[in-house]
Amino acid sequence: MDPLMARYILTNARIITPFRILDGGNVYVEDGKIVHVGETDMADAQVIDAGGCYLSPGFIDLHVHGGGGADFMDGTPEAFLTIAETHARYGTTALVPTTLTAETDDLLATLDAYTAARRVNTRGAAFLGMHLEGPYFALSQRGAQDPRYIRNPDPAEYQRILDYSPDIVRWSAAPELPGALAFGRCLKERGVLAALAHTDAVYDEVVAAVESGYSLATHFYSAMSGVMRRNAFRYAGVIESVYLLDEIDVEVIADGVHLPAPLLKLIYKVKGIDRIALITDAMRAAGMPPGESILGSEKNGLRVIVEDGVAKLPDRTSFAGSVATANRLVRTFRDLAAVPLHEAVRAASLTPARIMGIDTRKGSIAVGKDADLVLFDENIDVRWTMVEGRVVFGGRAHGA
Ligand SMILES: [Zn+2]
Repeated sequence: MDPLMARYILTNARIITPFRILDGGNVYVEDGKIVHVGETDMADAQVIDAGGCYLSPGFIDLHVHGGGGADFMDGTPEAFLTIAETHARYGTTALVPTTLTAETDDLLATLDAYTAARRVNTRGAAFLGMHLEGPYFALSQRGAQDPRYIRNPDPAEYQRILDYSPDIVRWSAAPELPGALAFGRCLKERGVLAALAHTDAVYDEVVAAVESGYSLATHFYSAMSGVMRRNAFRYAGVIESVYLLDEIDVEVIADGVHLPAPLLKLIYKVKGIDRIALITDAMRAAGMPPGESILGSEKNGLRVIVEDGVAKLPDRTSFAGSVATANRLVRTFRDLAAVPLHEAVRAASLTPARIMGIDTRKGSIAVGKDADLVLFDENIDVRWTMVEGRVVFGGRAHGA
């Protein structure tokens, strides 16, 4: 690499830290890392004038299916790269590619594509490893997941998939299914994050799930049980259980469509900013104009309609994934939930990094961390994105 291009001084920015916004001061980048925040000397560096924009840690999206017209289930390296580049334009600097319930062969093809794409991904958001969403779900909470593929956890099947790919970092399942607790323990042993999803569990089942290693609620509120009655008696569902159990982290699709303002405020109030990860859960139409699209793979996905800023099943009975981008989540969370900007950013950066166990190297503007940086304006419109010291969006056409 040209040594001149490996050093940057970002100046004239409002720097967003996990705790506050610093006016003045510079951020120094060398060889892909943040080496200083404040004032120092650095020779042979490229100076980037932020023009008074916010300088934020890059957004970390733990749950995303697609964007820019591509879906990870297309199963090609090209699809992976298109999605990584599309979301980088909206401030995402690291993401966890997410699958849909599918035939095992299609799943394995997607895992192969991940391996190939990761080696050549230099112009988009970094890949943090794969998230398998399904197929071990409650049929009654399937949402837009294809019911043909939903089943109970099968040790022979999941061991084979986990043996096949070392790149799986998280897996979402319904903990009340037969075999789901053993599945959670297996994931925990292998260092894979287990998440509660598409579930009809009651409180005791959620407690058992936490005891077996589940620690995250996938797209909180969507496709999960709330308080219910059985033979006149009331039971706490997954939603109440997640509020009650402090140790459970939550994913929030803060696109302003999936969850209205009062629920965003309630989540913020009860769970607190350090337990909230803003996610896009975006499908292929993110970053594309409204109209018809496909949920899942091009080969055998479901036809959906994108309107009102969200994807819907054709009969409009259910949402079928979001078309959000990470900057929209931060804007919406700030505006609808009345969250200070630096906290909204934290829910899109440091908290997801902590959930994935990578907060020592990503998630905030701090010395020694990866130079994952974004410049945006008051409306959270992204001007410039840097991933691990490489400018992947914006070039010099920002700020000034
Ligand atoms: Zn999803």
